Amino acid sequence: MSGAVYLDYNATAPVRPEVARGMVDRLAEPGNPSSVHGFGRGARAALDQARVRVAALVGATPERVVFTAGGTEANNLALHGPGAGRRLVSAVEHVSVGDAAAACVGGSEVVPVDAEGRVDAAALDVLLSAGDGSGSFCVMAANNETGVIQPVAELAARAREAGFRVHCDAVQAAGRVALDMKALGVESLALSAHKIGGPTGVGALVLGEEGEPEPLIVGGGQEHGRRAGTENVAGIVGFGIAAELAGAELDRMDEIAALRDSVEYRLRAACPELVVFGDGAPRLANTSCLAMPGLANETQIMAFDLEGVALSAGSACSSGKVGPSHVLAAMGVAPELAGEAIRVSLGWASTQADTDRFVDVWRALHARAQGRRPAA
Ligand code: PLP
Repeated sequence: MSGAVYLDYNATAPVRPEVARGMVDRLAEPGNPSSVHGFGRGARAALDQARVRVAALVGATPERVVFTAGGTEANNLALHGPGAGRRLVSAVEHVSVGDAAAACVGGSEVVPVDAEGRVDAAALDVLLSAGDGSGSFCVMAANNETGVIQPVAELAARAREAGFRVHCDAVQAAGRVALDMKALGVESLALSAHKIGGPTGVGALVLGEEGEPEPLIVGGGQEHGRRAGTENVAGIVGFGIAAELAGAELDRMDEIAALRDSVEYRLRAACPELVVFGDGAPRLANTSCLAMPGLANETQIMAFDLEGVALSAGSACSSGKVGPSHVLAAMGVAPELAGEAIRVSLGWASTQADTDRFVDVWRALHARAQGRRPAA
């Protein structure tokens, strides 16, 4: 859609041109990385290079990167299997974590968050100390709907002290904030290529120095026996390139933050009762989840779409419909207000012209909605 403004990077980022070129070049070569001939060795070398690049993005050891078919699979791989003990899951996790944990034998227990969407550390301590002191705790690095960043290192330290392993879904945080696995103190980290300008359908579970996941897919020795099946070589190559570029551009996040902050400033000037969810907590620089009083989010999204501006309600589900947000509900947001929340998310190709256009359309919509609202 040429001429359209894309503000939905948390759903998926546009593929970076360098990624597309690298993938096309790789696709032009045959080669199964398990083959011993030269073509196979070429594919293997390409995988190894991508593994180094992805590991570097999160300060991990390349041999501990397990390529998967996306963030959802990475989260499932981390969580499924018999595993020891209880499973504690923050209330704002992505469904791929929440549902995977709930499906495990013994189910899961939810760790509440405060009104800004941060994990309630006191409630976590209570949950950690109930039971026999073993299990796992899942906490995301940053939320896909609000951008709220969790203090993962601090929460992980509490969990480890209580004998719990920690899995962190870093799908939205990677490439947007600096991440170092060792500093975070987590046993595993989920990543997804398409949030950072790589292709969809590629991700990784990055493991810490110890521990092995229970394979989800068996039937071959690929990925050190942790994930069977011939690797998606071109996709993984694209992921590697995207990871390297995203890591090198982390300092551009200040520019992105300035664009986002300017949007919120201008909307507040037009509408003092604007609600920005999670704005009292540290947030990803690229994300703004905001409620326009008086207009349902589904109506807003369609109106923006008609004006050539693409964005989401954070809670869009796979059917394309807007569902109730479990994230905003966990933050104690009333259903009516949550139903007015849209998410603007920026990224590597976002410009001032994009955000200016968004603000113009938002103001026009808001003025129309005001006109329609019944007098108080
Ligand atoms: N975790 C978070 C926080 C996400 O936002 C998403 C996707 O939106 C996923 C996991 C799933 O990743 P993928 O789309 O690669 O399966």
